[in-house]
Amino acid sequence: MAKIANITDENVKDHLITDPRLNQVSMLKNKVPFLVLFAALQLLIFSNSFAQGAKKLQTIIVDAGHGGHDAGAVGQYENSLRSKEKDVTLAISKKLVAELRKQLPDVNTIPTRTTDIYQSPTEKANIANEKGGQLFVCIHADSGPLKQGRRQVGTREETRYHVTYKKVKKKKVKISTPYKVTVPAYEYFKMPLQRSGTSVWIFAAHKTSEKLKAITGGGEDFELEANESDSFANNFDFNSPVGRALANLYMTRFFKRSDNLASMVNEEIEKTGRNTFGVNQRQKGIWVLQATNMPAILVETGFINNPEDERYINSEEGQQEMAASIAAAIVRYKQQIDHTTGAAESVPATARVQTAEPKPTTDYTKRSNNILEKINLTQNTVTVDLYDNAEVDGDIVSVFLNGKNILDNKTLTDKPLRLTVNLDPTKAENELLIYAVNEGSIPPNTGLMIVMDGNTRHEVHFKADSQKNGVILFTHR
Ligand SMILES: [Zn+2]
Repeated sequence: MAKIANITDENVKDHLITDPRLNQVSMLKNKVPFLVLFAALQLLIFSNSFAQGAKKLQTIIVDAGHGGHDAGAVGQYENSLRSKEKDVTLAISKKLVAELRKQLPDVNTIPTRTTDIYQSPTEKANIANEKGGQLFVCIHADSGPLKQGRRQVGTREETRYHVTYKKVKKKKVKISTPYKVTVPAYEYFKMPLQRSGTSVWIFAAHKTSEKLKAITGGGEDFELEANESDSFANNFDFNSPVGRALANLYMTRFFKRSDNLASMVNEEIEKTGRNTFGVNQRQKGIWVLQATNMPAILVETGFINNPEDERYINSEEGQQEMAASIAAAIVRYKQQIDHTTGAAESVPATARVQTAEPKPTTDYTKRSNNILEKINLTQNTVTVDLYDNAEVDGDIVSVFLNGKNILDNKTLTDKPLRLTVNLDPTKAENELLIYAVNEGSIPPNTGLMIVMDGNTRHEVHFKADSQKNGVILFTHR
């Protein structure tokens, strides 16, 4: 356990110390094998990915779900193609890799597998991390529970017994008289799934699309990765202190980008006219997503036990259409990422999307004010530190105190922008306004504000965009 406490990465140390939930790390008992756990922590911790926010997208990992003895879901309804998820995922990911190499020739696109081999989620995550992936895209196919149907295929004779009782020497004796009846003979079969369509998953805790909720009756026990046969992945407990630590690190670094790409994938698939279930979050069963030290998404390309979907994801055209949709989203995502770090030189002209960015107005009064928080202060002078709380993606802000500009055009990073704020004691309320000069590569501008009022610390998660200013009101005690 001592090793966990010896983590040297300063940034991570900060995360571990500032989050009170993480102080229980050392209390972890033998829930998961320590070495595996430590390896997992290392994947997240000993890396340079804090700098990733400033890097262009150069390495993409494409993972074909399942493989080898792990077939994944199988088309098992009557008259199904009996296709296996592992083959479908391999075919689609091969096409996706080809498409990305064509459209983004300067990007290194690496498949986790190109043949029918088994890799545990841990192995898959290791490949992605070792290759220096900056984006992890998992290809899967869904399945849902099947109902059993029956049909009459004829009749058969059945022997039944008519039972009577007779008294023999004061004792009751049972007499069974057999007789024949003709009964229908049934054959049983699995009915195909009604549900069809695609969904995109990211690793997090609490969002399931309304559409998906509607079909699953609100329950989130949606069959997703029941076949991921990796005991560590399946037994990993995100409610354990270490689980929460891992989840928290992932959230801090990669959530925004993952969510963003997932939305784009969903949009691109919608354009093809397929049924889509939107972007969804979950923890269980997609351990591999957060074990990769990079933004990650998982695409469920269709239900393998729905006849229409099964045919679609097994067809050349369907596989190509899925690959093209996902590739189009990744090209858009890359443009967004590269936008803040320089010219998108590796994006071919045909794939370039004209993003008419609204020119930032310096007049904050043209935007509406979103009051984020009221803070009651004791001092007349407080210090205010501003950070980018998610990924450092080039968010630029200006800050106004009671209409006066006190910070102009500064980029939020993981290092604080410190302001000493002198409040006007004659005012009942002092207004601190955050104006988004841009929205970074991942809108909106979000950040963390720490206000020190003497020894009292106030934390505000702020948000500002091209429509709304973020406003914090300071009142006097
Ligand atoms: Zn799967």
